[in-house]
Amino acid sequence: MRSLDEFAAAKLRDLDAQNRRRSVSDSARADGIWIERGGKRLISFSCNDYLNLSQHPAVREAAIAAIRDYGAGAGASRLVTGNHPLYRALEERLAQIKGSEAACVFGSGYLANIGIIPALIGREDLVLVDALAHACIWAGARMSGAKVMSYRHNDTAHIAELLETKRREHRRALIATEGVFSMDGDRAPLAGLAPLAEAHDAWLIVDDAHGLGVLGLGRGTSFADGVPVAVPLQMGTLSKALGSYGGYLCATASVIELMKSRARPLVYSTGLPPASVAAAIAALDVIAREPGLTELPLTKARRFTTLAALPEAQSAIVPVILGDEGAALEASRALEGEGFLVAAIRPPTVPDGTARLRLTFCARHPDDAIARLAALIRDRILR
Ligand SMILES: *Cc1c(COP(=O)(O)O)cnc(C)c1O
Repeated sequence: MRSLDEFAAAKLRDLDAQNRRRSVSDSARADGIWIERGGKRLISFSCNDYLNLSQHPAVREAAIAAIRDYGAGAGASRLVTGNHPLYRALEERLAQIKGSEAACVFGSGYLANIGIIPALIGREDLVLVDALAHACIWAGARMSGAKVMSYRHNDTAHIAELLETKRREHRRALIATEGVFSMDGDRAPLAGLAPLAEAHDAWLIVDDAHGLGVLGLGRGTSFADGVPVAVPLQMGTLSKALGSYGGYLCATASVIELMKSRARPLVYSTGLPPASVAAAIAALDVIAREPGLTELPLTKARRFTTLAALPEAQSAIVPVILGDEGAALEASRALEGEGFLVAAIRPPTVPDGTARLRLTFCARHPDDAIARLAALIRDRILR
């Protein structure tokens, strides 16, 4: 179809003109932190494999054993025949680490958010979403058909104002935030947000994709500051610090039961491959055995922010905001020339005018590489 190809080519030209075209490069991950790309070996500061568990011997072995025992794929939706025995073990482990009554595993973090939110709220309801929340939180909120309002990033006063003026016009309300913000690395003010939500009978969902395994001795953002914060809907992913693939929700038993009937990605999509489930269980075992491991990513991120003279890291993610798309791409290329893989993040992933380098710190990053990268960013990129 000529019109189809012409449409695609014109769209790509527009994206090129704005420095917003994306591409995928063949990248073989050699071990936890090294990447082979274009015949070059780069040390990656862009993976979310914070504990390097995707390459851990026990995690790999668990995945291989699951393939031997159960096969390569799940065969059907979990509701039909895709619920191999490993699911129960994983859901018990997730509920345990999050201190919730029950848990439910989804096909991915993205699928979890677009399943959970529409299963809980609908057309007569209100969703308040942090302005910097992940694309899949926005997608879930929009798919629910509820009235969606954005609040200023991490601004509890703004949330209070919206609840005071809008809550009574709606039947049910949901507040959606990330625990650790994926492109900014800062944390949501959960200790203030949870009681505010409760006072207005608004349900709080925290997407802790980047908190699990990294904060609160691995338990996540709501466990990071001494007293755990009660969050009724704790969702996240198995694909970051756990080094596997899949998403989850931890909540009360009745909420979890409801998901099994009403969350569409769970009902209508095939269950995870057994290997992914087994790998996530093995990763949780490593975290339970070695809680000290979970402290390394934040320690390394803070070593970096000190050396680069940036504000102190609050998580394993550190943004270096450069402004326009061209500057971010150029900085990323310059670092690649020095042997570092540091992704440039551009709009629409981040707001206009805030294109940036996004650095992530992992347990196995050597301190000398961190020091060299900090010096390059301080003296060459930010100079
Ligand atoms: C990565 C991410 C997701 C998506 O999780 P996947 O398992 O990769 O689909 C959801 N929310 C946040 C905040 C993320 O960073």
